[in-house]
Amino acid sequence: MNNTSVKVDLHLHTLQSDGNLSPAELVKLASEKKLEIISITDHDITAGLAEAYESIKDNPHLTLIPGVELSTDIPGNEIHMLGYYMDYSDSFFQKTLKRFRDGRVDRARQMVRKLEKLGMSIDWDRVVEIAGEGAIGRPHIAQAMVERGYIDYPQDAFKDYLGRNGLAYAEREKMTPQEAVELVVNTGGVAVLAHPAWLEDIDAIIVDLKSHGLQGIEVHYAEYDEATRTRLASIATRHDLLPCGGSDYHAFGTPGEHLPGEMGPPIEVAVLLKELAGVNSKKRKTKQNQTN
Ligand code: AMP
Ligand code: ZN
Ligand code: FE
Ligand code: FE
Repeated sequence: MNNTSVKVDLHLHTLQSDGNLSPAELVKLASEKKLEIISITDHDITAGLAEAYESIKDNPHLTLIPGVELSTDIPGNEIHMLGYYMDYSDSFFQKTLKRFRDGRVDRARQMVRKLEKLGMSIDWDRVVEIAGEGAIGRPHIAQAMVERGYIDYPQDAFKDYLGRNGLAYAEREKMTPQEAVELVVNTGGVAVLAHPAWLEDIDAIIVDLKSHGLQGIEVHYAEYDEATRTRLASIATRHDLLPCGGSDYHAFGTPGEHLPGEMGPPIEVAVLLKELAGVNSKKRKTKQNQTN
């Protein structure tokens, strides 16, 4: 279902991580969906933003917010942290992302080896080819499994094999959610907790992350039903957090995949997001001037 009143989508992936559209194709699609504000939030990489900014020039009614989605570790699980409006040219920021992308390659290799042992032979070069020049992720391995006929759809790989408790799962180095929040804030951005509905002790986690600089959580997230969004909205209000969200579109092409513009926060949230980023960026500059 496409809700035509949605003008903002703050969670989108491209070929630069595990999405299947180029940044230019995604911009074109967002424009067709009559979106006005979008953010590209690839996993551990911002390399798609240059192409997106280039193609957005032909779509003056569309605004692009620079974004990223960082994978972080908590005991026994992982939390995704979205960052918006960081100064992504910052060398420490880029060095940190690079470190985590390198970890993704080693871990993908391990998972391919484990699959081999389970009798599912996948060509490593093909996985690398599917990933292209972007950040390699489990969906790329899943795609290779589909191609070899081991499964029907990429998501089928997660339950038994590539999910955290799957037989072929391998760990990689990740930062903590606290470190991710600080990385984003120290780079002048706004940190937003991604798809948080599954967290059991969400209030305690939020209180802690807020003390590190967290300023938003995803509420208007396409995968969530109305009851979940209502619950998250009241959590956001309770903790004075910006209620963000979007489609988390990857162009996987799976049945029922949520499309850009299907779900997103009201435009006022995007306005506030920019204001918060302005304040964070000013604080960062003041800090930089003090240390220079
Ligand atoms: P990675 O970045 O390698 O940790 O892979 C994470 C990505 O895999 C997520 O952003 C989703 O696109 C996808 N993913 C994770 N868990 C599942 C799942 N249970 N079913 C389908 N896709 C998943
Ligand atoms: Zn993804
Ligand atoms: Fe995520
Ligand atoms: Fe995502």
